[in-house]
Amino acid sequence: MRAVRISQHGGPEVLRAEAAPTPTPRADEVLVRVRACALNHLDLFIRAGIPGVAIALPRILGSDIAGEVGETGEPVLVAPGVGCGVCHFCLDGRDNECRRYQIFGYQRDGGYAETVSVPRRALLPMAAGLDYPQAASMPLVFLTAWNMLVRRAQISPGQTVLVWAASSGVGIAAVQIAKLFGCRVIATAGGRAKLEMARALGADAVTDHYDAARPVARAVKEFAPEGVDVVVEHVGQASWEQSLRALAPNGVLVTCGATTGHEAKLDLRFLFSRQLRLLGSYMGRRADLDVIVPLISQGKLRPVVDRVFPLAEAEAAHAYLGEGRQFGKVVLEVG
Ligand SMILES: [Zn+2]
Repeated sequence: MRAVRISQHGGPEVLRAEAAPTPTPRADEVLVRVRACALNHLDLFIRAGIPGVAIALPRILGSDIAGEVGETGEPVLVAPGVGCGVCHFCLDGRDNECRRYQIFGYQRDGGYAETVSVPRRALLPMAAGLDYPQAASMPLVFLTAWNMLVRRAQISPGQTVLVWAASSGVGIAAVQIAKLFGCRVIATAGGRAKLEMARALGADAVTDHYDAARPVARAVKEFAPEGVDVVVEHVGQASWEQSLRALAPNGVLVTCGATTGHEAKLDLRFLFSRQLRLLGSYMGRRADLDVIVPLISQGKLRPVVDRVFPLAEAEAAHAYLGEGRQFGKVVLEVG
């Protein structure tokens, strides 16, 4: 089959469009014919290499897959991660805490290919009314944002939520989920065009995170003088200090990533005197996709596609995502 693989770590140029063996499904797996696979920043990190993390090479990247079951032609989405299915955490529905949790395109081969082998428990019905690139733009970021806001921060109506980088996949999902739960949302973005798009997604207030004269925490206080109840963090080093400053007493910071760097400072006196909570979040529960997909079919949540590249242009797609000019998902189409 045709696939895009990495055999070494490095820049976008290490992505090689080449022939690869068609996978052999295990007893509980089926072959899925990939129609579209969305990129995530995770793909860039895996390609570049993650210090201290061994990745089996060659590896086919790609966590967000939409396609058809090979046997039946049925359109499906693939959950981006899969637990072992038998451990305590998996049986408790907390498969994203499974010690053997595998993300497609990371710990197992992913969707930059014509075919991928998928455990049946990772298959989901296709959301209604979406084409394949739109469908592929949904699973990882909506699952991640749902886990952050609903499972970890446990948002409730009337709360105020700050979402960093509303143009990112997680940001787009977080703005919509927070609005769906009746929260007030302040979103950051870079530049006027992206701020307008953040408003169109439902943000009640927007602020430019590149505006040095108006730091995000100050803009937040104009809208919510006490600060926000919840901060959705995934930017890391560049935003961390402003995130902490933006929090109201008893506020919750929930983070799922560190795109700009992972070294962060924390004044412990600030943490305990304001009774803050700092929460980590990793992927999300498989079962929550059974709630999210119908919400997408009903139009209550919507994935946003920025740009579609053919599979053979994965290198250009990686370079484009790395530039950070997109609003929404960058998708590879496999046709
Ligand atoms: Zn397990």
